[in-house]
Parts: sequence; C-alpha cells; structure tokens
Amino acid sequence: MKIRRPIIAGNWKMHRTLSEAENLVKGLLIELTDLSDTDVVLCPPFTSLAKVADLVAKTPVRVGAQDMYWEKEGAFTGEISATMLRDVFCRYVILGHSERRQYFGETNALVNRKAKAALAASLRPIVCVGETLDQREKQDFKGILRTQLRESLEGISVEEIEEAIVAYEPVWAIGTGRNATPAQAQEVHALLRATLTDMTGAKTAAKIRIQYGGSVKPANAAELLAQPDIDGALVGGASLDARAFAAIVKAAT
Ligand code: PEP
Repeated sequence: MKIRRPIIAGNWKMHRTLSEAENLVKGLLIELTDLSDTDVVLCPPFTSLAKVADLVAKTPVRVGAQDMYWEKEGAFTGEISATMLRDVFCRYVILGHSERRQYFGETNALVNRKAKAALAASLRPIVCVGETLDQREKQDFKGILRTQLRESLEGISVEEIEEAIVAYEPVWAIGTGRNATPAQAQEVHALLRATLTDMTGAKTAAKIRIQYGGSVKPANAAELLAQPDIDGALVGGASLDARAFAAIVKAAT
C-alpha cells in the first residue's frame, strides 16, 4: 500500500450537457466498486456541478470544479467564487490547468491568489504545473517547474499546504496520446517533492499528494501509479468514459 492515499480526478473540461453528465455518473457508479483505498474526484463543467454532487452524495466520490475566481463576490461578470462552489458541495478545484494558462493567460501569481482563496473557503486546490515541449527541449524546464510550484503556492501556511494537491501535467502529453514514461514522470515528481521539502520541510512534503496527468489511460495507469512519488492521476479524455475511468481508479487501488 502507498504511504499517501491515491487520488484520481477526472477533468471533464468543456464536455457533457446536464443529461449527458447524469448518464456518465450513473455509468461510473456502476463501475466503481471499491473505493476504500482511493479518493475519486469528478470535475464536470460548472453547469453540472450541483447535479453531479447530488448523484454522488451517498458515495465516497467527491466533486471538484475546473476553475474559480479569488474574490468572495462582486461585479466580476462570468466568474464563480469559492463560496458558490462550496454551496453546490464542491470539495476540490483545479487551478492553473495548462489550458487556463495557455488560452486565458493565467500566471503563477493569479493561480496563487486563487489557491489562497480556495483554501480559505475549505476547498482543496489541485494546483497544476507542467512544461511545454519547447521548454523541455530547449530550456531549463526543471527550473521552470520549480518556479511554477513555488510561485503558485507562495505564502500558503504549512498547515494549509497539506490540503493542496499538486498535479504534474507535461503540456506535450495532454490530449496528445503521448504520455511521459513512468521514469520521466517519477523524475519530475521527485523534483517537485524536493521543492516542496525546501518550502515546507520534509514531514509536510511527504504528506502532499502529487498527481500525474497527460494521456493517462487504463493501459498505462498501473505503471505510472506504481512510481514512488506518483500519488494519483488527473485524467482528461479517459474520464469521459465510465469503464476507462473506473479501470484507472482500479489501477490505483
Ligand atoms: C488534463 O486535461 O488534465 C489531461 C491530463 O488530459 P488528457 O488525460 O486527455 O491528456
């Protein structure tokens, strides 16, 4: 058994209407038989959060959002607050996903403000970091990853940081079918844990869960999840298929 409880999260991105979400969750609940050793989180679009939370209410499955804004309320057209997410029984929120960074200009500083606001509202942030292909091939990508992690979690207390989850998602592996090898992923996870050790001390860093994300499928999940510093998966495409997602959860269990 792993020291840290594995956590598998499904990022549905901008997929599934309300009725489609209902069908997907019903299918998943049939497939997910043993959740005693693994945390499972479903992250549908905002419009389905309340429905999905209702469908999983009597199960150990938890619900997360894909983003949020840091202010509590106000004139911020189009935004959703942590309080609103808690109100529909969200427990987690994905922050700084590479698609948010790439298409919506999210920076580490902005992710940091969101992470602080999430934790203040008792939402667990899943803080994403990852390098692009160009960064991996031509730049000090390890330095870039360390900076992403430090700046995204800067100023968060040691007690609160334990509630956070880190997701390492190499951008070149997201939605491309090209995943990092288990050894490549483990190397970065160990680097991120060493960075967390510098930031928080070894005891706290040993408790923080670091998920891998990037084309995780039933066929590669077990080998990735067997790595000592890989504590779960953030799953995109395969989370839209009940059988595939359940198989990844089983690989973690
Ligand atoms: C993601 O978007 O977080 C992701 C990892 O996507 P995929 O599994 O489709 O690569």
